[in-house]
Amino acid sequence: MKTFYSPAHRQHAPKEEFEAGRLSPAVEVPERAERVRAEIERRNLGPVLPPERFGEEPILRVHAPAFMSFLGTAYAEWRKRYSNDTADALPSAWPARGMRFNDSDIESRLGSFASDTATPIGAGTHEAARAAVNVILTAAQAMQRGEPAVFALTRPPGHHASADVFGGYCYFNNVAVAAQWLADRGLRPAILDVDYHHGNGTQAIFYMRSDVLFVSIHADPSFAFPHFLGFADERGEGAGEGFNLNLPLRRFTDWAAYSVALEAALAPIQHFSPDVLLVSLGLDTFEADPISHFRLKREDYLRMGEALAALRRPALFAFEGGYNLEALGDITANVLEGFEAA
Ligand SMILES: [Zn+2]
Repeated sequence: MKTFYSPAHRQHAPKEEFEAGRLSPAVEVPERAERVRAEIERRNLGPVLPPERFGEEPILRVHAPAFMSFLGTAYAEWRKRYSNDTADALPSAWPARGMRFNDSDIESRLGSFASDTATPIGAGTHEAARAAVNVILTAAQAMQRGEPAVFALTRPPGHHASADVFGGYCYFNNVAVAAQWLADRGLRPAILDVDYHHGNGTQAIFYMRSDVLFVSIHADPSFAFPHFLGFADERGEGAGEGFNLNLPLRRFTDWAAYSVALEAALAPIQHFSPDVLLVSLGLDTFEADPISHFRLKREDYLRMGEALAALRRPALFAFEGGYNLEALGDITANVLEGFEAA
């Protein structure tokens, strides 16, 4: 299986995030993708290839122009405002209920476009996020040209970003941009999100549409991030009704329960009959993930890959979350190897 990867992701290297009432060390760090790349090379899973450049146009098919230009200039604006400091840009105020829309300075713009305080914008964030989009579009192009399966080693991740909101360590929604790119070329994409956290950004982007199926297995938002989306009764709206499926699971879900949800997720995908299955591959379902609470074991990821292969569809895997640095390479490669071995 080909892997697409760009070293540009390393330019996004947040040091801290604000969470649980304190500034704590960032968990979405460059070493994540480097560990995965090293394991793919160690196991000889296939070539690791650089991305091509696709420009802004495919991103603007999904993201709002104002949002796109905001991400391009946010850090420079922030530096200008706080020139005596070195902190990354983080919002500290939001246009909450009863207030007015305003985007006249960097603080109001951060509050207008951000959903949380865990997603800092640093000097290299925009460049890294753009490179991640190029990585997944190069992978999508390979699918269009007939590859049966590819892995886009995208970092920063994307599934929490919506058309005009960034958050949850995500800036551009890599998978959504790729799905749209494929749909624009006459292919029928389905997205399966197996990250521990609900893919709220992806859901929001395709919620009113029937041409892209979105299915997500995740921790119930009644106790887990992103807290405000991902409930079972969200089924799509208008033309999109019936094309959004959420399978929220309880805390401490193990493979016995997870595999039942996975089968339940695969049935509507099979029925939808996609030309390409895009898998938002989050690995934070692992039992020793530092920020999550499921109990999947290393070998379960082989089973996950095999279950996905049983669909007999071309598959584009895209890297999302997963924060146990020691296991991350192993469990990611297990999914890809399980898929190819099946
Ligand atoms: Zn996650």
